[in-house]
Formats: sequence, structure tokens, C-alpha cells
Amino acid sequence: MRVIVTPFARSILDWYEKYGRKELPWQQQKTAYKVWLSEIMLQQTQVTTVIPYYERFLEHFPTVESLAKAPQDEVLHLWTGLGYYARARNLHKAAQVVVEQHGGEFPLSLEAMNALPGVGRSTAAAVLSSVHKLPHAILDGNVKRTLARSFAVEGWPGQKKVENQLWQIAEQHTPAEDTDKYNQAMMDMGAMVCTRSRPKCTLCPVESFCVANKQGNPLDYPGKKPKKTKPEKETWFVILKHQDELWLAQRPQTGIWGGLFCFPESPSADIDEVLEQYGIQQRNIQSREVEIAFRHTFSHYHLDITPIVVTLNQLPTMVMEESKGLWYNITNPEKVGLAAPVKSLIETLQRH
Ligand code: SF4
Repeated sequence: MRVIVTPFARSILDWYEKYGRKELPWQQQKTAYKVWLSEIMLQQTQVTTVIPYYERFLEHFPTVESLAKAPQDEVLHLWTGLGYYARARNLHKAAQVVVEQHGGEFPLSLEAMNALPGVGRSTAAAVLSSVHKLPHAILDGNVKRTLARSFAVEGWPGQKKVENQLWQIAEQHTPAEDTDKYNQAMMDMGAMVCTRSRPKCTLCPVESFCVANKQGNPLDYPGKKPKKTKPEKETWFVILKHQDELWLAQRPQTGIWGGLFCFPESPSADIDEVLEQYGIQQRNIQSREVEIAFRHTFSHYHLDITPIVVTLNQLPTMVMEESKGLWYNITNPEKVGLAAPVKSLIETLQRH
């Protein structure tokens, strides 16, 4: 049992008395049903948007029993416009669980509340602390942001390690008394003061504790979701050139650039095998130049392409086994589908 109110929590509680929101519809004649309903609606949605939906919902379904026995279509209809419809389906299911398994009363234990469909640990704690004043810490998006900044918690809260660290801080500062006020204040702080892109640090009750504020970098917290690094692959384009013509091979129908025309490819800088495949001998080659490599990015990987221009002094006797191809005249181009990097390489060659 926490007996000491930390200086951080004291400042938050004092601020709540003056500025916290106390007039929200679900804060009047509180019941677990009303607070739970509002908490689910408030996930990913702002208070001003939620209020009319909440009121309409409550008018149609004044009790958890009435919600439980409503047809799902009716529930979804009243949810229309709020988005994230899985929330509405879970809400409906949770009402049925409360009626069927808990005799129509929302459970009092954090575990049982947390086990209801669509109710996470923070939502369960918010309902129990708000209605029954139970001393459970919350950690919704607003609280995560305020704590991450105040205590300079590095990393993306989507990572378990970072989230656990934030839970630890949340628990350490959540007072055993007035938990309902403290939790409400933390939600209000995140929504009104420690906002995502413009935190109002000069109006903030925890300004003097806030590490990010001292560092001058609140916007660096919480850390962003790390971008997935795409794998990198390499290929060499063998550009066979004879006067104004370039050899293009048609790619198989399946796989990347399916059915498009492309330069022959080599898996390494050693392109002899490709030359051999096309019946090109050393005496046919006037020059061989390695051009600057460039990157083509697909949705799943990066492809680093090194073009090698092989200028021929005579047209080879082509040995084309499986692949179809054509001599593409850059001054009088054929209308064929070209792979994107091939197209831009041809445009570069046309300019030279
Ligand atoms: S001082 Fe600024 S960054 Fe720190 S908690 Fe307050 S509003 Fe957020």
C-alpha cells in the first residue's frame, strides 16, 4: 500500500482541484457501466467527439442488460461514425459477459475486469479507480506521453520493455488515496497540457520535475516506432548496346517486373556468364563501363543496381533460350512495358 504521496503526484492533485475536468457526462452519478462505456469510446477518440455518441448510446441502452440483449446491428448503428468498430463488437460482447457471468454487475477485481472483451489493463484500472476509488495505476496514451517526458523514458512505448518501465513509474506515483482524482488529472494533463505536438510547459504543474523540459526536448518523447529496416539485395544490369540499340529481355510473367522488359541481370560484377549466354565474345566488345550504382526500393526490399554498359562493335548472334527479347532503339522506341529503373536508365542513355 502506497502511503506517501510523491511530490509529482501532489502537484498533479493540486492542479486537478483547479483545472481538472469534473463536468463530463460520465463523471455525474458515476456507475461502472457509464465509466466503462466512456472509456471504450474515448480510446483513440477525443472527448468532444465522444460526448454526443455517449449520450445517444446511454439513452438507447441505459443499463448493461439492455445493451447485452440488443441486436448487434443496433449497437453498430449507434456507433456509426466513431470508427474502430471492433470496439463496438467487443463492447457488446463484454456487456453479455457481465450479464451472463457476473450477474449484471461489473467485476471489482482488476483481473476479472481486464478479462472482459476489449478491456485492457489501463481501462480496467480507470473504471475501478474512478468508480470504486481502488488504487490502480492507469497508462493510456496521454499518461504514457506525460510520464515519458517527465522522466525522460527513452524508446517506443509499443516495446514491452519501455511499456513496463512506464507502468513502474505510473505505479510509483499513483497515490493510494484520491486515485480517482489523480488518474483523471493525468488523463486531463495529457489532453490539455502535455499535448502531442505543443506541450504547454509553462502552464504545467510538473514543469519543475520534468526532465524533458529541462533538457529542452519534450517532443523527443515518447520515442517513435522504429522503422523496419528493409533487406538489401544487389544486382548488375548488363546493358548490351549496339549503336542506338539496347538489348532488353522480357521477364517471366511471375516475380518482380513480371512480363516487363529489362536488361539482362547478373548476380555479381562478373558478367561473363551473361555475355556467354548471349554468344558475345571478347572480339565483339568495343568497351565495357561500370556506371554509378543506384537504389530501387520495392515494398519489401531495396535493390542496389549497378549498370554495366557493354558497347558492341557488331550485333551478336543471339542465343536466346527461355527469354524473349528485343533490340530497343532509343531514338525510335518500341511501345513495350519497361521496368521502372530500366526506363530511367534508358532516359539517361538517351541524354548522352
Ligand atoms: S513540462 Fe512540458 S513536457 Fe514536461 S510534462 Fe509538463 S507539459 Fe509535458
